[in-house]
Amino acid sequence: METHLLHFNDDDLQLAGQLIQQGQLVAFPTETVYGLGANALDRDAVQGIFAAKGRPSDNPLIVHVANASQISQVAHCDNADVQRVVEAFMPGSLTVVLPKRDVVPDVVTAGLNTVAVRMPGSKQALSFLSACQVPVAAPSANTSTRPSPTNWQTVRDDMDGKIAAILCGDDCAVGIESTVLDMTQPTPTVLRPGVVTPSQISKVLGKPVKVVTNPTAKVNSPGVKYKHYAPNCEMVLNVDGDVQKICAFYDAQAAQGKRVVILAQQAQGFGNRSVKLLGSTDEAVAQGLFASLRQCETNFDLIIASYTSTTELAHSILNRLTKSAGQKIL
Ligand code: AMP
Ligand code: MG
Repeated sequence: METHLLHFNDDDLQLAGQLIQQGQLVAFPTETVYGLGANALDRDAVQGIFAAKGRPSDNPLIVHVANASQISQVAHCDNADVQRVVEAFMPGSLTVVLPKRDVVPDVVTAGLNTVAVRMPGSKQALSFLSACQVPVAAPSANTSTRPSPTNWQTVRDDMDGKIAAILCGDDCAVGIESTVLDMTQPTPTVLRPGVVTPSQISKVLGKPVKVVTNPTAKVNSPGVKYKHYAPNCEMVLNVDGDVQKICAFYDAQAAQGKRVVILAQQAQGFGNRSVKLLGSTDEAVAQGLFASLRQCETNFDLIIASYTSTTELAHSILNRLTKSAGQKIL
């Protein structure tokens, strides 16, 4: 299959919308990461997403909507707390898990009676979703287990020949996936941390919000149990910023002939060892993280990531880094 590169002009947007309505797959930019979209109401089209990504079928998809009426088309949202969250965070980088309506096929929700819904913040995403005129099921547009794509070139690296089109838009401003908030429990629960933080949600709701800290203990959000965000090379994560320890490990690994790189927020103390900078703020780290992993894997055999920030956003970044490193901590 030839994968067409489309751009943000009226003709291409209309074509992208038509492709979705015809049951084809179209990758599109959002502010978090690029998504791989299909008509969420078309079972066969959604099945194609799992095939193109090699995604396990028990990992449900997020349904992306252009407006509030599409939320009520796919989910039950007539609850005061849900309305507050929708009002405060949509459009934006928050996904809400709600009781699903029958119109949503089981393949989207992996058989769950809930559905995850998001109205993205990016104008480009919203213009694509409006052109589709249907809710769009979309996971990240990467091959399963790989770091999520934050630019269209990376989508092409993974999806060329497997999908109908890539809508080539801006690089993603946020860079990590949306916060997933389960609102079907008595206490709203963050299943996946993102750029929208528990304290922001708690403030809007005027009550505490739970955070799932050990997702493997009880798998509320099926996707969190899989290998995720992993580069094609070895990776370890350091969270204490111990420069001497990092250098010693680097040198021992390099002595075995490995090409090693340190991915860190600053280069101080690493001498003439290879260093790639992660960015000086947490926002910049999030934005560049996945692209940095993909750049490092092409030139190096081992990534030593060092990240010591402790903010709420840092918690979300560490969630990704820990999985990228396959839980290997230095
Ligand atoms: P991705 O599409 O790769 O961004 O992953 C979507 C995330 O949302 C995964 O972690 C899924 O497990 C989670 N998710 C999607 N639908 C639901 C749902 N109905 N209940 C709980 N988690 C969900
Ligand atoms: Mg993903």
